Formats: sequence, C-alpha cells, structure tokens
Amino acid sequence: MYRTHTCGCLRAEHINQQVTLAGWVQKIRNLGAMTFIDLRDRYGITQIVVEEHSPAEVRETASRLGREWVIQVTGTVIERESKNAKMPTGDIEVSASGIAVLNEAQTPPFTIEENSDGGDDLRMKYRYLDLRRPPLQRNMILRHKMAQEIRRFLSDEGFLEIETPYLVGSTPEGARDFVVPSRMNPNQFYALPQSPQTLKQLLMVAGYDRYFQIVRCFRDEDLRADRQPEFTQIDCEMSFVEQEDIIDVFERWAKHMFRTVLGIDFAEPLRRMPWIEAMEKYGSDKPDLRFGMAFAELTDLAKGHGFNVFDDAEYITGFAATGCASYTRKQIDALTEYVKRPQVGAKGLIWIRVEAGGAVKSSVDKFFTPDEVRALADRCGAQTGDMVFILCGKKFKTLTQLCALRLEVAQQLGLRDPKKFAPLWVVDFPMFEWDEETQRWYAMHHPFTSPKPEDVQYLESDPGRVRANAYDFVCNGTEIGGGSIRIHDAKLQAQIFKCLGFTPERAQEQFGFLMNAFKFGAPPHGGLAFGFDRLCSLFGGSESIRDYIAFPKNNAGRDVMLDAPSYLDPSQLDELYLALRKPEA
Ligand code: ASP
Repeated sequence: MYRTHTCGCLRAEHINQQVTLAGWVQKIRNLGAMTFIDLRDRYGITQIVVEEHSPAEVRETASRLGREWVIQVTGTVIERESKNAKMPTGDIEVSASGIAVLNEAQTPPFTIEENSDGGDDLRMKYRYLDLRRPPLQRNMILRHKMAQEIRRFLSDEGFLEIETPYLVGSTPEGARDFVVPSRMNPNQFYALPQSPQTLKQLLMVAGYDRYFQIVRCFRDEDLRADRQPEFTQIDCEMSFVEQEDIIDVFERWAKHMFRTVLGIDFAEPLRRMPWIEAMEKYGSDKPDLRFGMAFAELTDLAKGHGFNVFDDAEYITGFAATGCASYTRKQIDALTEYVKRPQVGAKGLIWIRVEAGGAVKSSVDKFFTPDEVRALADRCGAQTGDMVFILCGKKFKTLTQLCALRLEVAQQLGLRDPKKFAPLWVVDFPMFEWDEETQRWYAMHHPFTSPKPEDVQYLESDPGRVRANAYDFVCNGTEIGGGSIRIHDAKLQAQIFKCLGFTPERAQEQFGFLMNAFKFGAPPHGGLAFGFDRLCSLFGGSESIRDYIAFPKNNAGRDVMLDAPSYLDPSQLDELYLALRKPEA
C-alpha cells in the first residue's frame, strides 16, 4: 500500500495514529533542529515534521529533498504546537519515522501553489504542472461534478446517451471544417463534426426520442476571445415536442444545475424575452440582466430640432447610467473615446446629466429646450443623479454600439458580479440574417431550424420577416445554449435550402442523406446544445473557458505543450497521396 490516507484528510481525531502518505514536496523549511515539509496531493496539504530525535536516515533523506519530489512518508500524527486555522489539516502534523523517495524532480519552472509566479505561456507549456495547482484542481473537480449532474438529471428524464462519430462528412454549418485525409480512400477527406446536429436528427428518425451526449465539437474559426478550436457541448434532441416542451425540460435542468452545483434556487419561471425586445432594450441577443439600464428609443423625441446628427439618423436610443451624473468631463471623454474605437464604431456620444432638483444639462443644450432634454431623460427612466448616454445611426448598429457602452459602464460601476446569475431564454429569433458582404441570406441558427408556421408565407416574398422556432439560453451576457424546433418535412427543408442559395443539386449533394431520411417517417423533433466549457466557467466565476479545459489550445490554436499542429514526415504524406504547397507570403 502506497498510502493509508490522502494529504487532505488528517484531523485532530487521528492524533497518535500511524499513517503513510504519498505526494509531492511543495515546500521545505529547514529550521536547524527541525525540518518542515509541506506534502501535497490533490486532496490537500499535510505538514510533515522531521525532528532531532527522528531516525538518522530520515533526517538525511529530508536534507536532500527538493520541490516537487515524489515521496512516501510514514509516521505518527501529532498535535501541532502552532495550529494553522486556514488549513483543513492545520491542527496536526505527521512526525516522520520513514521517508522513501519515489521519484526525484527537476526544479519546476514556476511555483506550484495557490498563486503561481509563472506567465501564461510557461504554464501552458507545462500544463501538467499547472494542473497540480489547487485553483485548476478545483476547476477540474467542478467540471467533473457538473458532468455527473448533467448525466444524472437527463438519464432520470429518460434521455439516452448515444455517441456519434467524429470522422464524418463535411457539411458547411457556418464555420470551417477541420478535415482529416483518408489513407484508404485516396484524395478523400473526412471532416470533424462542428456539432452532431444532423446525426442527432437521424437518431430521431431512428426512434430514439430523447438523446443526449457530452460531446466534442470542432470548428476551424479564427479564434476570437475565449474560443477553442475544439470544445464540448451538452447536445440534446427530443421527438414529439414543441418549443414549450424543450424549454420546460431544460429550464428544470438548468435550475437543477444551479441548485445542486451552486446551491442557488430559482423558484420563479425564468424570463422569456423575444429577440427583438432583447435587441431594442439591451442591444444584444444575449442581454446581461444582472443590472438594469435598459434602452429607450428616442427617435421621435430627438429628431426635428435642428441637430443634424439626430436629424440624419435612422434610429436614436439611449439609457440612464445609474448614479453617473457626477462623471467628470474626463470620464465622459474616455467613454466617448471608448465608443469611437473601431471595435465599437460609433461616431460620438451624446449625454444628459440629471442633477439635484431635476435640473438637466446636456451636450445638446443648443438644440433643445430644458423641457425637451428633460423629456429625453424621462423616456430613459433617468433619476436624479443619473447620466443619460445617447447614440444614433443605423438601427441595429446603434443598438450594438450602445450595448458595448452599457456593459463598459456596468463594468466600471462593478455591476457585473460573477457571483450573481441572471439566466433567461431569448426566443423568436429571426430565421435569416442578411449578409451585406456576400449579398445573401444566412440561417441565423442553422439550416435545419423550422420557421414559425404563421411566417412560412413570407419565405419567398420577405425572408427578413420570417421568425424561427429557435431559442437561446442566456446568462450574464453570454449565450450558454441554443437550439430550435427542426424541419421534419423534406419539402420545407428543400425550400429553406433554396432561400439560403443552395441549388437543388448542391442541397442534395450536401444534405441528401438527411432529406432522404425525412422521407422514411421523420417525427416532429427539436433540441438544443449547451456549451459545457462555458457553463463551467460561468459556474466557476471565471471569464475564461480555458481554465476549465485540462489541455487547452492557445490563441493561435496551438497546443504548446504537445507542440501541435506540426509537420508530417514525408512518408506519411506519401501514404496519403498528399503534396504540400508553401503558403504565399
Ligand atoms: N447544433 C446546434 C449548435 O451547435 C445546437 C442545436 O440546434 O441543437 O449550435
């Protein structure tokens, strides 16, 4: 037996017991007569003491130990003279009667403690050392616990966990596919699934009416902040359901997760917000509802007063920033600079201060009477002490810009508390999104999403007006999950492909397997998928999904620990009938 106990479990009740522990040397303090060793495993840290009366070979071994050596210690649990209330094992220490070195270790490149002195790159390179640190261990444990709760809940609800293949055919779903050459089928490629979307729909055709999978998805996207080329989804699908049934099951699931993992109870039904309301009130389809500061449209009040910027704008909107009337000129200038940054893209920022006694002062006083300014502020619900911020321009661009400002102000006001949770459903998404660049409609969710029956009539004449049976689960300004009721009718599916610019031949080529399957008795079905990494980081209170993935990639999509991707041996390329071409500079 390597150990009788772990390094996290000994307490006062174990005093006088003979124990054997095994773990890593975190710290050694040599005080002459006595040597203290902090011995660590994933359960905790126990203090080992080597004293003057300890056996000579124990003292000799202790004097040689270095950080991160793996050792086995046998000894007696004794009461500590100076107890450490901050450590669960702080009442005791183990007086060593034997130390066996199981493995020596090189000096680690950074400190392996609660806080490390290592930079990001170094810690990524030695991820297995970083994973020894308690914060990362807590994250891995949280992830494990969440996975167990997901399985428990869904299994109890009759969902079957069914695996789908990773080597599939390429189906454009939005992002680029990662592809894998096939040696046995020269010049042909598999694609790694962007999600098991079509496969889970085929499982519905096959009659497995409640499916789930905690599954890896692969998307070859440019890595915007906090994206990983491979990530994990909680992927679910159900048959004989409408939107309401799916929302019912997964709202109960979400509440189960909040209750069992975080001890937070949401007694009330979660809020449902139509997409257009989310856009007009918060400028985002993933509104952060931890705080108010909703937008109000001001177009009718603001136009026609001789202020060109307003008069020329399609849309004018603003919000009252709570308690910000005291902002200095400098702070307003900084926010103006913020909205003018290319990432936000506004031209300027208009403000109204609501001062004590209700007096208003604004950057457009030249064009408006005090009563007119007051009316603008009132529309935004501004109270004494608030500051109204206004942007204008093209409708949805302006809303998105104001969203960025609202979040920035909230950040400055400390309103984005990671310990507070404001989940909601966003529903009634538009079916299509117009892309200026390519001059065509794209599916807002994916091409298998069903339009609302009452909107099908506009598919040809006014695609922008068609709403989808699609829904997102949103929390704290992040999309945590999303899904839709699917099309289960081959004809309607063909019509949607046509709206999306597919010729019948190309639709058949890419999605023939699905449309054919629909001819063999497809049940009405729908589902959704949650981002598991993101859900973990939300629950863990961190901004970064990387902290919840054991071996993540860096911002360039590289695994710096494995040094992947890497070049292939020419013989491997030969086997695959592949020749390489140098990228043009
Ligand atoms: N497959 C979809 C996605 O990855 C989710 C769904 O519609 O179930 O976004």
